[in-house]
Amino acid sequence: MDHFNFINSRLHAEDVPISNIVEAVGTPCFVYSRATLERHWHAFDRAFGDYPHRIHYAVKANSNLAVLNVLARLGSGFDIVSGGELARVIRAGGDPEQTIFSGVCKQDWEITEALQSGVGAFNIESEGELESISEIATRLNVRAAVSVRINPDVDARTHAYISTGLKQNKFGLSEERALETYLRAREMPGILIRGVACHIGSQITELAPYRDALEKVLDFAERLAGHAIEVKEIDFGGGLGVRYNDESPPDPEEYARQITEQMRSRGLTIPVAIEPGRGIAGNAGILVTRVHSLKHNEQSAFCIVDAAMNDLIRPALYQAYHEIVEVEKNEEGGHNRYDVVGPVCESADFIGKHRDLSVWPGDLLAVRTVGAYGFVLGSNYNSRSRPTEVMVDGGEFHVVRAREDIGALMNGESILP
Ligand SMILES: *Cc1c(COP(=O)(O)O)cnc(C)c1O
Repeated sequence: MDHFNFINSRLHAEDVPISNIVEAVGTPCFVYSRATLERHWHAFDRAFGDYPHRIHYAVKANSNLAVLNVLARLGSGFDIVSGGELARVIRAGGDPEQTIFSGVCKQDWEITEALQSGVGAFNIESEGELESISEIATRLNVRAAVSVRINPDVDARTHAYISTGLKQNKFGLSEERALETYLRAREMPGILIRGVACHIGSQITELAPYRDALEKVLDFAERLAGHAIEVKEIDFGGGLGVRYNDESPPDPEEYARQITEQMRSRGLTIPVAIEPGRGIAGNAGILVTRVHSLKHNEQSAFCIVDAAMNDLIRPALYQAYHEIVEVEKNEEGGHNRYDVVGPVCESADFIGKHRDLSVWPGDLLAVRTVGAYGFVLGSNYNSRSRPTEVMVDGGEFHVVRAREDIGALMNGESILP
């Protein structure tokens, strides 16, 4: 459920007509809905009921300061994968203590800043990393709380690029390696063991992979208990899918019920942390683009728009489907089945293929469900400025990131003397 609806045949974000936003900021632009972000966060939170839980929004899904701030105001924790994301969380008013630092390659400077700002926990992915963290923590005279990310070797049955819980993936440690790592961790002066972590992938649309992964995580936690290692938290990662087209992912309630039932059936009341990114931000954003021209050849009809793969790379990178709708119905428009393509010089530069649209040059289109892995995956390819980002809040809208100006694209560059 989101708050992008048609009122009198005009697409609105909450109470604001999209065309009003475009009049003010131009195209292409991302439009986010505060009410949708909040609704999704509360859905996850409520779903766990009285089972002890923490929600750590995965910052990488959408790291705009306004998005982080809206969630921080709800009391959300955060999951970060870089020092840059840590700086954003702090700038947005997030609590470092409620922040988990994940990722396969944490640099020493990132570990140092995380420890200095009091980051709540590190999810570690290798023994070497554990040693670096212990060393740096000892030097800073603190102890780092760590969970080891185990790789349960479960197929999340999602796109290969966003599947992370198979043994051929670079993520996490096998149970055997993880056990050795815990045994070493408890001897290390700079380390406090917090729990067990796991994240099997993204855009997961079934419960079975979660069930299988959690069984393995809980079996593993029992093994740790056998070694007198207390697990104070299960961090079960993110990954819950959203509906882009005809998927029917479990809702947060079904997802949470699966987790809490498995915990309770073993008589466990260990707190659970989850790290949803897409599930919170995905449906909370659209990309608005203007039709530049229509072009027909023998095979295809092209609807050429001013947004491109540099603004939204998911179709090119993951063969992802995004619904594309007319912002205002144009009864006079050219009805056709179009490939919706952008200005970038690549044949991979498409937003959608074979879409039935009724459009005319100058009309506006909205690409739906781009609130997660949309703007953040953008680039300046073809020296294109990244789009304006806007957040709607009821009847108002706010520019939360201005369109980049062309000069800024050349910042830091220089020519030879
Ligand atoms: C990407 C990621 C997430 C968020 O995944 P979503 O599919 O957006 O929910 C959570 N945890 C970790 C460790 C990740 O890498």
